[in-house]
Amino acid sequence: MADMLNSIDESFFSVDQNWDVTFANQFLLTRLGKSKDEVVGKPVRKLTPEGMFERLSSEFKKVAYERSSTRSEVYDEPTRTWYELHVFPIKGGIGTHILNISDRKKAQEVQIRLAAIVESSDDAIVSKDLNGIVQSWNRGAERVFGYSAEEMVGNHISIIAAPDRINEMPAILQRVRSGQRIDHYETKRKRKDGVIIDISLTVSPILDPSGRIIGASKIARDISERKRMDAELRATNVALSRANADLQQFAYSASHDLREPLRMISIYSQLLKKNYGETLDERANEYLRYSIEGARRMEQLVKDLLEYTRANVADAEPPLTDANAALQNILPQFGPMIEENQASITFDSLPEIRMHSVHLEQVFQNIISNALKYRREEAPRIHVSAGKVRSEWIVSLQDNGIGIDQRYAEQIFGLFRRLHTNDEYAGTGVGLAICRNIVERYGGRIWVTSKPGEGSTFFFSIPDRAESMVQADTPTLV
Ligand code: ADP
Repeated sequence: MADMLNSIDESFFSVDQNWDVTFANQFLLTRLGKSKDEVVGKPVRKLTPEGMFERLSSEFKKVAYERSSTRSEVYDEPTRTWYELHVFPIKGGIGTHILNISDRKKAQEVQIRLAAIVESSDDAIVSKDLNGIVQSWNRGAERVFGYSAEEMVGNHISIIAAPDRINEMPAILQRVRSGQRIDHYETKRKRKDGVIIDISLTVSPILDPSGRIIGASKIARDISERKRMDAELRATNVALSRANADLQQFAYSASHDLREPLRMISIYSQLLKKNYGETLDERANEYLRYSIEGARRMEQLVKDLLEYTRANVADAEPPLTDANAALQNILPQFGPMIEENQASITFDSLPEIRMHSVHLEQVFQNIISNALKYRREEAPRIHVSAGKVRSEWIVSLQDNGIGIDQRYAEQIFGLFRRLHTNDEYAGTGVGLAICRNIVERYGGRIWVTSKPGEGSTFFFSIPDRAESMVQADTPTLV
């Protein structure tokens, strides 16, 4: 017997009626770092740590009094170890078996924590056996499906099946039986109150320690609200794009149809002035001048508005346009202005950009005409250059004009936004809005940096989509 107790990796010892040690097995002696002679025949107090002795002595008393065994758990603070004490009566004394149960305790703690997580989860977490009988049902499941754990545990999961998904559950269980997992499967279930809800399901097999599949665990998230919001968002998007298209159509027709009557006002006012100007008094002539000027300005506005609506045309796969050529194309129209202002326009070698040439030309044209218009005393100097930043081309147009207070750097790109009156500089406030519209259509941005009195630099970026596509498609060699 002593041989056997000496050969196991657990502590054993016994005491006589005076609580003097009569036996200590080899494992315990090694743990204590003592020899048999140092222990046997000595009071048990010598053998045990302080905290442990109190506990032991109370167990000993119980066993001595009741002559039956006790089992208890003790935590030894200094060594952070959990022990199980098994104290039992033996002939002429008491035997004690001490078992280190720290690992078991840790596992229990993990389980308690996991159980708390399962309980506090908003998602329904349910386990069932391979026949679909519910084994566990957390609070989340109570909330999502309306059934309590008492109502569900031991019953078949088909209670929550939606009428048109009756066949789905056996199919899911079949897949689980063959060891498969089901991830984020969107389906419908019926709540206790009869309401059908949308859920997202993740089901995985539960294995026993031998690796055998014994059931399924299922996490179900109520996605009814998300589904409802998705549908609402889709409907809003449709309504928005319809409204947008209507608005564009309206702006286009309005500006198109306005041109004709405007021309009439303009022509007849001019005829009136030409044929009857002499006979009219000065005041009448002044009124006439105002209406001619008003009509001219309105014509310009309408023309710009038309351009603005045209710039809204989207294109999935824009062509590559040589920016040098685009710039060369528009320069001749600035010929007289350049000469008159003694301006110079220079540019670096520019790249090919993914835009329709008309659009690129329009952007260049608007920014350059502003640079010539908003000039200072000294002759205008404009320089165009471009650089690649990651997968975008960034084009910059620098001028030495009057500049813009940085506070207005954002708002000048808004429709009809101007920083000057028409007397100071003629304009409609549409040019930069057109530029922004065009650039954003191509997935780019437009901005300005400037110092009043020193000049401005306008930047716009255009993604080089072909390149990002090539990068994404390039196979990696492993
Ligand atoms: P418009 O020139 O017809 O007024 P834009 O939309 O082209 O309209 O420009 C909006 C405003 O931005 C202009 O009224 C002007 O105040 C300012 N702006 C544009 N370009 C420049 C520039 N290069 N230098 C200084 N101010 C500018």
